[in-house]
Amino acid sequence: MSDDSTFHVEQTKNSVAEKVQLSHCPICNNTKFKSKFSVLDHFYSHEEFHIAECNGCGFLCTNPRPANSILPSYYNSDAYVSHSGSKKGLLNRIYHQVQTFNFRIKYRSIPLDVPHGTWADYGAGNGGFLRYLKGKGKDVIGFEPEEDARKNAANQGMDLSPVSDFGHKNKSYSCITMWHVLEHIPDVNEVLDKLVSHLTPGGILAIAVPNYESFDAKWYREYWAAFDVPRHIWHFSEKHIIRLCQKHQIEFQYKKPMPFDSFYVSILSEGYQNKFKPKGIILGALSNLYARFSDYPYSSQIYIFKKPI
Ligand SMILES: [Zn+2]
Repeated sequence: MSDDSTFHVEQTKNSVAEKVQLSHCPICNNTKFKSKFSVLDHFYSHEEFHIAECNGCGFLCTNPRPANSILPSYYNSDAYVSHSGSKKGLLNRIYHQVQTFNFRIKYRSIPLDVPHGTWADYGAGNGGFLRYLKGKGKDVIGFEPEEDARKNAANQGMDLSPVSDFGHKNKSYSCITMWHVLEHIPDVNEVLDKLVSHLTPGGILAIAVPNYESFDAKWYREYWAAFDVPRHIWHFSEKHIIRLCQKHQIEFQYKKPMPFDSFYVSILSEGYQNKFKPKGIILGALSNLYARFSDYPYSSQIYIFKKPI
């Protein structure tokens, strides 16, 4: 306990000086925000962060947030399972089994009339989805900002490039996927501009993000694991993800549920309250039932956008 407290104080001291305020809303350009509620970084630093709402369009943002230079330090944990590929522990083992089902859900979310060409995964983690796509005979390329994740991917037979290499040689892609990536990216409009400019006409941009209007988010409130501050800078509803992407000359086509995410997020959220983690399975199922039979969105959803021909 004393070690944790020391860590917390030191981290807080460091980060107060290195936090940055959002100058304007990336969706509507409004410059005014009001603080809505506080969320702890339950996963790593145990620091407190504020979630603010844009006065113009209601978009929720982690504000202030760590400066870009120190943001990577909040990912330094073996437990960040999507990048480490770790298979230790029951939760991680379940996660990796479910991942295979999730790959199929992601693949089937892409429309059949996607143009022929290369598929790019932006924020490819350990390259798992690209390996799945290769198995389907697709020509693939992956981009990942974290060096450790790239090494991990290389060890599993998938060479990834740094995200700074995206768009080199004016290469265009028929499909670009971002699975739980957009909510992490500080310069979200610049990146979307870049991605769309390298999409072939008729090409598909598929984006998966959590949704704070889901039943599990409403149930767990500040303990909802998919707030994941400060790694998640942006917190999306359906309206906000669609509005943001439509600023970039791509057209919204449809959405698809990611029904396994509610279980994973709910189990983590129970753990953050020191409660009985398996109860999260019940909440995850309830969240999916509410999404299926009422107006609640799913905990996470895939949004499909098309670049006009
Ligand atoms: Zn706004």
